[in-house]
Amino acid sequence: MAAVETSSTANLSAEYDYVVVGGGTSGLVIASRLTENKDVRVLVLEAGANRVGDPKISIQGLAAALYFDPDYDWCITTEPQVGLNDRRLAQPLGKTLGGSSAINLGMVIYPSRSGFDTWDKLGNPGWGWETMESYFRKFHTFSEPQSKLKKELMLDYLNAAQGTDGPIHISYGSEEGYPPFAQAWPRAWSALCKPIDGDPISGTATGAFNNAATIHPTTRERSHAGNTYFSDSTARRPNLRVVTEAFVEKILLSQRNDGINKLRATGVTFSTKNGQRRQVTATREVILAAGAVKSPQLLELSGIGNKSVLAKYKIDCLVDNSNIGENLQDHGFVPFSWEVADPMTSGDQMRNPSVVEAAIEAYQQAKAGPLSVNALASAFFPLQDQDLVPVSVDQLLSELGQTEVEPKALREQICTPGDCSAQFTLAPFQLNPFPGDSPSQIFGLGADGFYASIVAVLNHPFSRGSVHIQSADPRSSPIVDPRAMSNPLDLELHARHVLLLEKIRDTSPLRELFKEGGRRLHNDGQRVETLSQAKEAVKNGYTPHYHVCGTAAMLPRESGGVVDSKLRVYGVDGLRIVDASVFPLIPRGNIQSSVYAVAERAADIIKSGE
Ligand SMILES: Cc1cc2nc3c(=O)[nH]c(=O)nc-3n(C[C@H](O)[C@H](O)[C@H](O)COP(=O)(O)OP(=O)(O)OC[C@H]3O[C@@H](n4cnc5c(N)ncnc54)[C@H](O)[C@@H]3O)c2cc1C
Repeated sequence: MAAVETSSTANLSAEYDYVVVGGGTSGLVIASRLTENKDVRVLVLEAGANRVGDPKISIQGLAAALYFDPDYDWCITTEPQVGLNDRRLAQPLGKTLGGSSAINLGMVIYPSRSGFDTWDKLGNPGWGWETMESYFRKFHTFSEPQSKLKKELMLDYLNAAQGTDGPIHISYGSEEGYPPFAQAWPRAWSALCKPIDGDPISGTATGAFNNAATIHPTTRERSHAGNTYFSDSTARRPNLRVVTEAFVEKILLSQRNDGINKLRATGVTFSTKNGQRRQVTATREVILAAGAVKSPQLLELSGIGNKSVLAKYKIDCLVDNSNIGENLQDHGFVPFSWEVADPMTSGDQMRNPSVVEAAIEAYQQAKAGPLSVNALASAFFPLQDQDLVPVSVDQLLSELGQTEVEPKALREQICTPGDCSAQFTLAPFQLNPFPGDSPSQIFGLGADGFYASIVAVLNHPFSRGSVHIQSADPRSSPIVDPRAMSNPLDLELHARHVLLLEKIRDTSPLRELFKEGGRRLHNDGQRVETLSQAKEAVKNGYTPHYHVCGTAAMLPRESGGVVDSKLRVYGVDGLRIVDASVFPLIPRGNIQSSVYAVAERAADIIKSGE
């Protein structure tokens, strides 16, 4: 699918019913669902360009080449992280039509039932699993793999209902092209503890599995918000207008004069591709979908935020809410990479330009080869496994001299049998954050030789960071400070999961795929044996998983909220947020499925007039 022209502002109306800020993952879900009603007029303003059809986007295996390229990415680097030996972290975020769904790694992972039930318990009625479950099917269409692949990759767990008619295509890509690691992964986990005990889409399964990806089953192209929710036919709707390269600078707010003294969002100002400053009116609502870094930035630029933050930049504070920009959460992964057994190679062979050329040719000619699959595989692992991680939260807290950790509901959740404190992901190539934190180093295949990696992810961190403006200039990036590991419990938990990595690698049949006595890229080449080594590995190797969320949380205002359970911004009429900013707690695993599901539910809420 080639890009339709979207950057022109010719014949733009002065007003629309809804103005959606950000044509990314959530923004395009909202726009497409609202314009199913032909009487509703929607304008989407997206800062990035329309690059639908660009092979760097459509071939998912080339994604890492997009990171820190300003044509696709906002190129944000965090503050130095005290808990990570003062390292700054690279934080790629999609800047193109489709947003981060157009540049992500494509893994489709589902959250836990208990995670969404905790959202509900925190004061968000209607956001528990019972309501959300159907939205995890609504956004996608799943294509069953053939029986040969099912057997090879142990996909028999795929026995729950999947999506049948949603816009996003989810599949296993080509039947050929999976590396031997994909077969070994679930078998090694079965030997180590147990096989997976259900289908992850059910919200309760734990164990290892080969996950599907956002790959179209026949074209093998990346399926993302920009080429599905904004398909050719949706783009032709007369009631939908998408303008790309339109940078929104401010939300327009006016005071109501009916004695209630409440603010109302009436539109936005934005600058066009040609640098023209424009203004557009939203007669019903402005809907923020600029992502978890840029949505809170826009609130602050518009006078909605912590009074003392705004005062520093001489911005009049119209709604004083110190929760804005707080509660930032992300997952971090700690990668270990080991040399593979001779004469095998790994994804590291892609450092050779002629191999890349051959892979692209196989993809383009036959929709086959390594670029036609997504060979990342996952495992969910509970904290309760006393054989493999003999520790309890109570014991850790008492060692830390604490009796409680906030939020209490999260503590209860991770101690619930069946919940998962960790995710492990297998990547059949090297991941190397040790020379430096830029994506070009981490994904740069810079070390000689052929490696494969397993990463440990803390599913439910307790640390909270922030994002705040550092200038009144909308073009200036906000300060992103995840404060990773600032809660000491996170380091204790993450390190214990990291300690499992060498054990997983040593379990047959994975073990046979690695070179006996081969090189390691982590821990200065030494095996990690002790808890203190594992803690150092976290501090030196923690890399953001690019799941930033929570910065305009859906919570009661007195509990840290920015939006209510209908996603309306406190203190302002006609203003909603629908992107990853509203997540009160980060779900387990990779979060795009939750972003799509939340946006689908948001569309239903808006349509119902709530
Ligand atoms: C590199 C990377 C890899 C990832 N890998 C995975 C994965 O494998 N699996 C998974 O499940 N999840 C993954 N994720 C996470 C997932 O893709 C994101 O959480 C999700 O797409 C975020 O959706 P969103 O709608 O909140 O924001 P986005 O999709 O980022 O959309 C925000 C949009 O708003 C636009 N915008 C911002 N500011 C303005 C402005 N001022 N004016 C106009 N437009 C603006 C942006 O350009 C962008 O298009 C990854 C994310 C990244 C960045």
